[in-house]
Amino acid sequence: MKILKFGGTSVGSPERIKNVADLINDGEQKIVVLSAMSGTTNTLVEIADYLRKRNPESASAVINHLRTTYFQHIEKLFSNNDMLNATAQILDDIFMHLHSFAGATFNEDAEKSILAQGELMSTNMMTNYLKELGVNVCLLPALDYMKIDENGEPDTAYINQHLREILDKHRGYDIYITQGFICRNSGGGIDNLRRGGSDYTACLIGSALRADEIQIWTDIDGMHNNDPRVVEGTTPVRQLHFEEAAELAYFGAKILHPTCIQPARFAGVPVRLLNTMEPSAPGTLINNVMTGGCIKAVAAKENITAIKIVSSRMLLATGFLRKVFEIFETYNTSIDMVTTSEVGISLSIDNTSRIVPILEELKKCGTVEVDHNMCIICVVGDLVMENIGFESQVTQAMADVPIRMISYGGSNHNISFLIREEDKAKALQALSQHLFN
Ligand code: ADP
Ligand code: ASP
Ligand code: MG
Repeated sequence: MKILKFGGTSVGSPERIKNVADLINDGEQKIVVLSAMSGTTNTLVEIADYLRKRNPESASAVINHLRTTYFQHIEKLFSNNDMLNATAQILDDIFMHLHSFAGATFNEDAEKSILAQGELMSTNMMTNYLKELGVNVCLLPALDYMKIDENGEPDTAYINQHLREILDKHRGYDIYITQGFICRNSGGGIDNLRRGGSDYTACLIGSALRADEIQIWTDIDGMHNNDPRVVEGTTPVRQLHFEEAAELAYFGAKILHPTCIQPARFAGVPVRLLNTMEPSAPGTLINNVMTGGCIKAVAAKENITAIKIVSSRMLLATGFLRKVFEIFETYNTSIDMVTTSEVGISLSIDNTSRIVPILEELKKCGTVEVDHNMCIICVVGDLVMENIGFESQVTQAMADVPIRMISYGGSNHNISFLIREEDKAKALQALSQHLFN
């Protein structure tokens, strides 16, 4: 069985929903994961923001506007009145639910529940539209099988068991529709897999079921060799190894959720990135094959903070690095890049929520310097030691960019630079110019 995920733009209008319905209705049994219609999750975030700021009037105005838009969508989507009315009832229940938060005390649980409504709407609309077409379709509620643990990580044992049980109970359908992004947490409350998390849902389902393939359908023809929002003339990369794709996703290639490749890689299920607007384009295949001899792609991750700890006590001492790393572990903050010298260590983090106590502790180890608004530039490709000259090509491309850190050798397929955010566009453009032209 294949798992197909369609992102927000792919289901962003009644016409697009109809296109996706045509695309998936090919007689092959499949599970289809849907995002919310594009813009919806952002609107839900806005509603939650107004409620947090104790401004229920503005929240209500946004909810009413969203309701009008959705009712226009379903008028265009359905030709059958019964199906239209049934869907209108489901949407109305959802909008009533959103309004119900206006009078209640606002907390994190309320916010998570609000954010979940977009995927609930899109999947109900698609399921009912497929029913109208006479397709043998079943809606699988993600909240019945998708779960994260106390650390916010997917509870894979729970997901495997419950997903299989639900599918067993609902055998014999051609198409199963389910919500991306949303899940339950260890307390049983509604939660989510973080923004862009529908990719993660698809990969978790695909690996739980050992699917034949996971397809991520989006608005571009696969993983490009650089960020198309910043660099002109980028081109799709036809094939990537799981590790290369994981690296690009983690370091900013927005086409994939940062951690979604991991489960597919562990289960050995290939992932294909495809374009809903151009279904016949080959896209990108992500699998276990490492094709060598070239640099494949570049990505950038912003909002990085660099921390340098300099101490003469590090000279010839043992246990200094352990002490530093333990501080980050204590405050549950993961480190992205690390470089060391005989008298100091530089590292980068993307989560600064615990930076105050971290810096307090680090100051006991040495002199501490902090740089905010930094950016990691990640170059991915065949960078094994034997491939002489690739690293120098990359560093030559960066000749005019001030560099704070360089990391090479952590794996065979990556070299990363830490630069100022304001130099990101220049760096990405220079890398494309030197490496791919
Ligand atoms: P979806 O809503 O389908 O999940 P996203 O907006 O999350 O789609 O991801 C697709 C977008 O990712 C593209 O439109 C593109 O602008 C952006 N993007 C950033 N980096 C890359 C890259 N290296 N290759 C392809 N797309 C990228
Ligand atoms: N709808 C969610 C978001 O906008 C999840 C997703 O689209 O992947 O972040
Ligand atoms: Mg996305």
